[in-house]
Amino acid sequence: MRAAANEGGGRGVNVYSIPMRTRFRGITVREGVLLRGDAGWGEFSPFLEYDAATSAPWLRAAREAADEGWPEPVRRRVPVNVTVPAVGPERAAATVRASSGCRTAKVKVAEPGQSLGDELARLEAVRDALGPDGRVRVDANGLWSVEEALARIPLLDRAAGGLEYVEQPCAAVEDLALVRRRTDVPVAADESIRRAADPYRVRDLEAADVAVLKVQPLGGVRACLRIAEDIGLPVVVSSALETSIGIAAGVALAAALPELSLACGLATVQLLADDVVARPLLPVDGMLPVERRAADPASLDRVAASPDRVAHWRARLAGIGQDQQA
Ligand SMILES: [Mg+2]
Repeated sequence: MRAAANEGGGRGVNVYSIPMRTRFRGITVREGVLLRGDAGWGEFSPFLEYDAATSAPWLRAAREAADEGWPEPVRRRVPVNVTVPAVGPERAAATVRASSGCRTAKVKVAEPGQSLGDELARLEAVRDALGPDGRVRVDANGLWSVEEALARIPLLDRAAGGLEYVEQPCAAVEDLALVRRRTDVPVAADESIRRAADPYRVRDLEAADVAVLKVQPLGGVRACLRIAEDIGLPVVVSSALETSIGIAAGVALAAALPELSLACGLATVQLLADDVVARPLLPVDGMLPVERRAADPASLDRVAASPDRVAHWRARLAGIGQDQQA
């Protein structure tokens, strides 16, 4: 495989830079590279702090999308959750109401600087907006200690009128296992699954009831399908805050899973202020269609990164090419 994809031969490379509508995961601008191959478009968008070794599976996922395409889907639509950031109750309710029919809400908790009262108010507002038959899950992004998790989860569960699960209550996988043994609310592992070996550790420690899988960090749709089969846990496919090009890979995974009982975290292109396709992959009646869309030239022009950022991404691609793909 060539070291980088910037070299012609029919392969295009486009670096995008898109502001986030709401600061998320500490990020205000999302950047990445779009690769075009025989099978379509692929997205390579590891977070800026990731080194070449960590970013290598992300590139494999982009290559799979661009060069091979994905396995046949077994469903045509994928249910998705609406994501509610750490906002006040009015905005939380409005986010749910504007979610195009999503029946599951994922609510951010454990936001630094916010109180338990802020979280309870947000959850009550989300439950009100969703109605009694919707599902509410919370995501703490690993920010609680075991003690904080055990103190807070029952209160959040009550405010939400029942939680579907709590995602990554603590950072360490051992702590997830401890929390899971001492609460009735199911536990999902997200940040504990970042490299290909991680899901097996979550399984072996019995640290979670649900595995959150993301296509890019785990090296592609096929790699994720193998993991899902091996670990035997219900899977939630989530995005890594990609454009509609990267989201389509997550949709392809969710569409190819033999079983899909939980809404996926793939309705996230709304978190970006712009996109690289003419018709973004947005939910309709709480579902994303199983289809991929081509990058749109006018959109690519609009979101094109500055020359110094293009140079940054070319260097990253070249670094992975030399270190990880030889
Ligand atoms: Mg998460």
